Amino acid sequence: MALYNYDIVVLGSGPAGEGAAMNAAKAGRKVAVVENRRQVGGASTHYGTIPSKALRHSVRQIMQYNNNPLFRQIGEPRWFSFPDVLKSAERVIAKQVASRTSYYARNRVDLFFGNASFADANTIEVVCNNGVLERLSAKQIIIATGSRPYRPSDIDFDHPRVYDSDTILNLTHTPRRLIIYGAGVIGCEYASIFSGLGVLVDLIDTRDQLLSFLDDEISDALSYHLRNNNVLIRHSEEYERVETMEHGVVLHTKSGKKIKADALLWCNGRTGNTDGLRLENVGLKANNRGQITVDQEYRTEVANIYAAGDVIGWPALASAAYDQGRSAAGSIVDNDTFRFVDDVPTGIYTIPEISSIGKNELELTQAKIPYEVGKAFFKGMARAQISGEEVGMLKILFHRETLQVLGVHCFGYQASEIVHIGQAIMNQPGEANTLKYFVNTTFNYPTMAEAYRVAAFDGLNRLF
Ligand SMILES: Cc1cc2nc3c(=O)[nH]c(=O)nc-3n(C[C@H](O)[C@H](O)[C@H](O)COP(=O)(O)OP(=O)(O)OC[C@H]3O[C@@H](n4cnc5c(N)ncnc54)[C@H](O)[C@@H]3O)c2cc1C
Repeated sequence: MALYNYDIVVLGSGPAGEGAAMNAAKAGRKVAVVENRRQVGGASTHYGTIPSKALRHSVRQIMQYNNNPLFRQIGEPRWFSFPDVLKSAERVIAKQVASRTSYYARNRVDLFFGNASFADANTIEVVCNNGVLERLSAKQIIIATGSRPYRPSDIDFDHPRVYDSDTILNLTHTPRRLIIYGAGVIGCEYASIFSGLGVLVDLIDTRDQLLSFLDDEISDALSYHLRNNNVLIRHSEEYERVETMEHGVVLHTKSGKKIKADALLWCNGRTGNTDGLRLENVGLKANNRGQITVDQEYRTEVANIYAAGDVIGWPALASAAYDQGRSAAGSIVDNDTFRFVDDVPTGIYTIPEISSIGKNELELTQAKIPYEVGKAFFKGMARAQISGEEVGMLKILFHRETLQVLGVHCFGYQASEIVHIGQAIMNQPGEANTLKYFVNTTFNYPTMAEAYRVAAFDGLNRLF
């Protein structure tokens, strides 16, 4: 068995692993990454962020084609199958893998493809995909092994009609009716995708409100638009059992309901990928969700072992995972790149898209902060009218005395891009974070960004 020596070994090549490896390599460290899939990119590229966003994009194009009167001159509305739209996702995944692979080569980071586990706190054993066993020694190790869908033992995930967010990408037909169990971000995004393809979706929410961390008005808007697109949302339901049959599935709920569909997509919870790491060899223990505890420098209880990304829990987003990984390496190499990630925007790619940053109305009310609201409805904005994207709203929450921007909440076309303008202002120090920016700055016209100007005037008009 060969032994290779490194400064830093990173386990996992998702966003957290990539962020860590690139930062460490740029700081002159000798770095290796171990990845147990055949290609780099992690769940983010192969099962999560990228395929779901590519699917959504194709579905939106289909919806636009079917709903835009202009296209009726070309032909009647057309429906596409799930495998059809999946093809475009596959093209994007391949491009992502190619560019990400080149980053490792360009930065002289060695890649080992195989399953990594701890022999001791400085030694990683890799069972390579070709069966060879390698040993890597490192001064520091960063665990960035991500997460996978949680699978309760009483549900038969081997049944051909039962899917989770990984296996749904193997679906070879379009079901007529689909049950999505779990109405978190992933469940709501897939509800949008499938309903956009004309599938009748039953969305089972274990809570009494969709995505309750959102501003109430935005959560209500999402419920309205999902329902409007034939999603039946059932709140406060929990499964009793899932009955599988040759031609369908029946979900039995604890409340006594029976819901029948052609297939079930399970979207309820994720678990950290720690079970194969032999953490016991270094004295670490994952919690009951498979997650590892770290301090504010991304260090575990073992001084030379760090962790980042989904494997440490919140916020379980690719966006944050990259920054956490970069920061974990930053805290090792001490090159002024460390930042504890505690404030991330929400980007939810439902139809309509949702994004927010900062406090929501309920939080500000509970904290007794005297805030005011400024709104811009997309239906009144030129760019939205031109694009045929009139569903949506931008809402700015600001302090009524200091005019400090406290929260930005948006749904509709380009919401996840639009929110970053507000984020930039909110991150300005002291009095530079002010609503006045939006009325004292000339915005391109027509743009979606112009919504900030409209919302700011609306808010200022409420002051007295
Ligand atoms: C359907 C879906 C949609 C999503 N959409 C978004 C979105 O729009 N925006 C967003 O920001 N986030 C989104 N996410 C979340 C995002 O995918 C994750 O937060 C992100 O992938 C976490 O990155 P990571 O690097 O921690 O882990 P991962 O991306 O999971 O990568 C970890 C890698 O480590 C490998 N690994 C595991 N164990 C070992 C081992 N023992 N040895 C070697 N390798 C190992 C894994 O196979 C994997 O390839 C979505 C997730 C899902 C499921």
